[in-house]
Parts: sequence; structure tokens; C-alpha cells
Amino acid sequence: MSEIFLNDTHAHLNDEAFDGDRDEVIASLKGKLRWIINNGYDLPSSEMSVALAEKYDFIYAAVGMHPHDSRLYDEEFEKRLLELLAHPRTVAVGEIGLDYHYDLSERDIQKEVFIRQLGIAAQHHLPATIHTRDAAEDTYRILREHLSGERGAVLHSFSQSTEMLKLYLDMNVCFSVSGSITFKNADKLREAVRHIPLDRMFIETDCPYLTPVPFRGKRNCSDLVEHTARVAAELKGVEYEYFLERVCGNAERFFGIA
Ligand SMILES: [Zn+2]
Repeated sequence: MSEIFLNDTHAHLNDEAFDGDRDEVIASLKGKLRWIINNGYDLPSSEMSVALAEKYDFIYAAVGMHPHDSRLYDEEFEKRLLELLAHPRTVAVGEIGLDYHYDLSERDIQKEVFIRQLGIAAQHHLPATIHTRDAAEDTYRILREHLSGERGAVLHSFSQSTEMLKLYLDMNVCFSVSGSITFKNADKLREAVRHIPLDRMFIETDCPYLTPVPFRGKRNCSDLVEHTARVAAELKGVEYEYFLERVCGNAERFFGIA
């Protein structure tokens, strides 16, 4: 059997969409993907990320507070966050960032909690996984000022313009593309993806969300990352096998997965 390179740098297999068949789904992924990072967004999901990583040898955990819930960030949460990120199978702080589309927490609180968790990631020598929506300028400004430490950050489900992308190129920031690059109305995004350096690109599903074409309407799952990878390889003008080896290797080094 040939070596498996395919990985999913951003999944939510903890999501309630998988409550009915989680174990079967995960069992079916074994052998199709080399590894998956399950991302938390609040306390229960972060706890479950670590629990899944303990249970399955090809799942790793990211833990953190999403901007939606940043109003819930308190001392109690941070105490538990520090315990979870000390776990040997936790590979990132995430997902964290800014979301001005839904504005479910006040923007000032979102920024404060984002900066706080960036500091924690640096202190603990972990990379940060960034969610940003309708907040491109503030996200860029905060990362420019506050991203420190040697591990850097990844913009998950990359959806920035070519102009924004270029601003990040002198920083320790990588770009993870999701099923959104397969969407019909995503010409501008596909153009930006062409400009992502191959050695700074990752692939992800963000499952159960962002199901790639041609599976729209169905629950997304980590194995559908293959369709996103094929589209991304085409955008970069390289062969699929070569793309996988490069892009999946990038992510493995970035997250320190052996
Ligand atoms: Zn996510």
C-alpha cells in the first residue's frame, strides 16, 4: 500500500452532527487520512478535542475559545485551557480570532480574548489557529502586533483577498484552504489561493461545515478534504500527488506532528 499523505488540519468531529455515528465515522477515516486535528471553540468542545485525541491515535487536539463565545472567557476557563494545552496530544491553540459577521460577543472583548490567547500560545510554544470573518483589518493588525514566539499562526479556512494575503507573506503565518475554494461564487478566493506559496499552504474541511462541491447539502467529513486538495492542486498548477506530499508535509512540520 502506498503511503497516505492526506490530512485534515481543521475538523470538528466533536460536533453534534456526528452524535449519532461518531465512532463509525472516525473508524471509517482510519487508513484514508494520515491524521486529523480536531478544533475546540469553547470549553466542552476543547475538552472533547482532547478526549478524541486520547481515544484515536490519528486525531490531535487544538483547544481554545472562539470569538463567538469570547464573552465566556474567564479565569476558570483559562485555568482549564492551560491544563488542556499541556496535554501531549494538543498541537495548537484554536480556534481563536475575530468574527464581526455575527458579532456574538462584543468586538472589544473579542480582541482582548484573541490577544490573550495569542500570548498563551507563544508562552506554551504552540501555534495558533485563527478564525477571521469580516474582520480582515483588525485580525491583520493584531497578528502583526501580537504574534510572537517561534510557532506562528495559520489562517484557517482561508478566505482573504490577494491583497491581504500579500501583507502576511513576511510573517510566520500559513494559510489553510477549505471546501469554500470549490464553491461556485468563489472566483476571487480561487485567485488569491493561486498566490499562496505552496510551502505555506495546508488543507482542511472545517467539517461538518463547508462541504465541498460536488457534495453540497451533505454533512462534511474529513475524507472530503480530497476534493478540496484536488481543486487546490489544480489552482497551483501542480500534480495532485506532488501537491499532497508538499502541502501535507508542511502541516505536519508546522503542528509538530511526528
Ligand atoms: Zn472551525
